[in-house]
Amino acid sequence: MRFFFVSLFLAFGLIWAQAAVFDGQAYVPVADWARANGLHCAWLKRGDELVATNRTTRLVFDVDSHYVGINGVQVALSFPVANQKGVVMVAQFDLEAAIRPLLYPSRYVKPTTIQTICLDPGHGGRDAGNQISWHFEKVYTLALAAELRDQLRRAGFDVIMTRSKDTYVELPDRPALANRRNADLFVSLHFNATPVGKNEVEGPQTYCITPMGASSTDAQGEGSNHGPTAANRHEDESLLLAYQIQKSLVGTLGADDRGVRRARFAVLRDARMPAILIEGGYMTNPYEGKKIYSAGYRREMAQAIVKGILAYQRLTAAAPPSVSSPSKGHPAKARPKSSAQYPLPGE
Ligand SMILES: [Zn+2]
Repeated sequence: MRFFFVSLFLAFGLIWAQAAVFDGQAYVPVADWARANGLHCAWLKRGDELVATNRTTRLVFDVDSHYVGINGVQVALSFPVANQKGVVMVAQFDLEAAIRPLLYPSRYVKPTTIQTICLDPGHGGRDAGNQISWHFEKVYTLALAAELRDQLRRAGFDVIMTRSKDTYVELPDRPALANRRNADLFVSLHFNATPVGKNEVEGPQTYCITPMGASSTDAQGEGSNHGPTAANRHEDESLLLAYQIQKSLVGTLGADDRGVRRARFAVLRDARMPAILIEGGYMTNPYEGKKIYSAGYRREMAQAIVKGILAYQRLTAAAPPSVSSPSKGHPAKARPKSSAQYPLPGE
């Protein structure tokens, strides 16, 4: 591992900090970045676990972990948290691609109006998805989608579905439909299975597109294409949507948090709008499986997803024009209000 100091433009333009380069990846001390952003740092476990907090935000950095805890939700990083001689470091890449868009959404996400939502019930027809005894994943993804469709319509959204029956739909046709119909969001629904740890592994996880130039959380089914995809145009929005939905799922259902993860899934790659894939839980877990097969639990899950979408909508709603509001420059040049996690509309 190479290590040397360079000066790096940290945070939003006020502080120069010392950074290290590990294998070509620029790392910055978490404490320096936190200070520049008005967060206070303290050890949770000396040398191992660092927490950065302010009034509304709590970030937990675990040495060697590929995740950062953001207000109780695990968010996948592209590069592991490092410890260099007792200094906890985070990759500059991850500050940009995984942390800042969630802390300062108004600086990263263009104001939008959400009207049409495309739901994508995973699998269908000859593709049953996961099969646990007589339970087929394709049945439960469709049941969840139908429940979610009804709830979203009641909340005032237009909803289209990539399938509304037990039919086979090719993967590329799913985002293609959303593109053709100018959907504002694309939400793919799945349930998970694990070959090992059936009794222990449970809880939802939510995927969004892998940032350009990074590896996926798990490369399952993503192919070897690591170049930019259409979905990378909405990388920050998709991350914010995935985070809000994962946070709502975990909070509402009281389920284990398996994190916001990154993948170049075929159904995500070609979407020209914020796009996510929800793995609603593990069919292989005896307790969670039973819940997934019950309409009552799926109704709660749909409520949690609606709540997450509404939270995302609030954060991305077009702000009313204000004469006193300063012009919004490039995110890297703008300076956030460090005391507020989510700036108020109009800021
Ligand atoms: Zn699936």
